[in-house]
Amino acid sequence: MDTKERGKYNLLVHHKKEKTKLMEQLLTQKTWNDFRKILNDEEAFYSFINYYSALLDWVKNNIEIFDTPILQANRITELLNLKHPEMYIVDNTGLSLGMESERMFSYRPETLDGLMMSITDTLWELITIMSEKNCPICDDGGLGYFIIEIASTKKRELILECNTCIYFELVSGEKWNEENKILRILPANKNDLEKFNAEYNAKNVYG
Ligand SMILES: [Zn+2]
Repeated sequence: MDTKERGKYNLLVHHKKEKTKLMEQLLTQKTWNDFRKILNDEEAFYSFINYYSALLDWVKNNIEIFDTPILQANRITELLNLKHPEMYIVDNTGLSLGMESERMFSYRPETLDGLMMSITDTLWELITIMSEKNCPICDDGGLGYFIIEIASTKKRELILECNTCIYFELVSGEKWNEENKILRILPANKNDLEKFNAEYNAKNVYG
């Protein structure tokens, strides 16, 4: 490729990138407008379970718009497979239904990934029982209860996982075997905590 051809090539690549960016912007705007239609559904804001269901239904109906990595990173399959989500809604979320139109629906995220993250963060916040422990690694993180299934043994363990970084620990106090592969991570509800006989003082459990 001579200099002239290289120049043309760069122009083309640049043009293509711009176009993709523009398309992404248009798609994000279109998707955002559609997402905001949830605001027309008054019942969606009557209760946390209604709100959870409204958000999850929207994700279900629009899932093909989003890239697989972002869906995986936010454990969307686990949310979609969760039977009886009403048994998982925590008593005290940090959210207030009256404030959600402002918090969730006023500011358009710049990208589709950003929108999906914002929705799934909210969905997980609605069903994750938080402990009173802070993350020992990062300053901001709080530790929430989850169940992990170990791939080789199918054994389930209750864990505390940071909502900010990748830190987690076994509630049993046992040391995590680094060779274990995790098959899946599931939310944990009150019954699960009791079942695992966890020693906990979760602020969300009994208010
Ligand atoms: Zn952390």
